Amino acid sequence: METNPIRVCELLVGLPDVNVLGVVDDEGEPLGVHVECRVARPRCAGCGTTAQVKDRPRIGLVDLPAFGRPTRLWWYKHRWWCPNPACGVGSWTGEDRRIAAPRLGLTDRAGRWVTYQVGRVGRSVAEVARELGCDWHTVNDTVLAYGEALVDDDPDRIGDVAALGLDETLFFRKGRWRTQQWATSIVDVAAPGGARLLDVVAGRSASGPSQWLEARPAEWRAQVRFGVLDLSGPYRKVFDDTLGHVTQVADPFHRAPRGARAPRRPGCLPSVITVAGRSWGPSWRRTCAVWDEAPRQRTARPAPSDGRGGLTRGEGIGIRIGYEAP
Ligand SMILES: [Zn+2]
Repeated sequence: METNPIRVCELLVGLPDVNVLGVVDDEGEPLGVHVECRVARPRCAGCGTTAQVKDRPRIGLVDLPAFGRPTRLWWYKHRWWCPNPACGVGSWTGEDRRIAAPRLGLTDRAGRWVTYQVGRVGRSVAEVARELGCDWHTVNDTVLAYGEALVDDDPDRIGDVAALGLDETLFFRKGRWRTQQWATSIVDVAAPGGARLLDVVAGRSASGPSQWLEARPAEWRAQVRFGVLDLSGPYRKVFDDTLGHVTQVADPFHRAPRGARAPRRPGCLPSVITVAGRSWGPSWRRTCAVWDEAPRQRTARPAPSDGRGGLTRGEGIGIRIGYEAP
């Protein structure tokens, strides 16, 4: 058991190579933990002269709650300067990314935690910000910074996609008049283990998803076999322009009212959609059919027996899971 009070404090704070200067306990405020880095004086990158301390700027960072209480880490940084009059380096601030990335409002460990909570667990930014006792933007900026780094670091995340879905989503309402702001979700509809969101682009016109598709390699576009879309003109245009070879399949969520648009032409035979050896799932397979219609394959289908194919309006991207329902 550690009984040295300084070591006990360092163990509880849990940051590498820091001196804990003190703890501030103001009622109604987050717990304030004041620290500095334990560093030797660095050498100037320009001339090698040992640097001198110019200043000790203090920055406040949102940290993980300590024993259930919101916590702020007050970090007394070192601002160094080169005393060599012949050197032009001037001054610089000592950083330690184990504590926090420059310009972010959260500690590194809190940044990783909020990114996991929002990105993996699916909690809202507002809920996580409340738990940490901080501003919505502080959490959102951090989730974007860490999340984009994760996405950029995973070039294979898109993988091969046999059935590509486009769907408009009401993302949020902006401003005084609560103007609707739409986004387009780009989805791997037939991914193993359930539909997978590949990306989100702004707007619900053809341009966003078209640009996204044009940025993919030609080989990648060539292996897409089905385009899943609502019955809107813009998304049809996306597939016509950028993936002209795919079979366009109407999305069950957006399908026409019961029987209204099924082109029951003589000689048009319904067939069950199967992608990469996976069907759309029994409840959907029972009713989903594609009609080959010259010169372009178009699709329509009778209504599923339960009226919505087991899907619930307003579930956003979650409706894709319905495709793979048992
Ligand atoms: Zn220097």
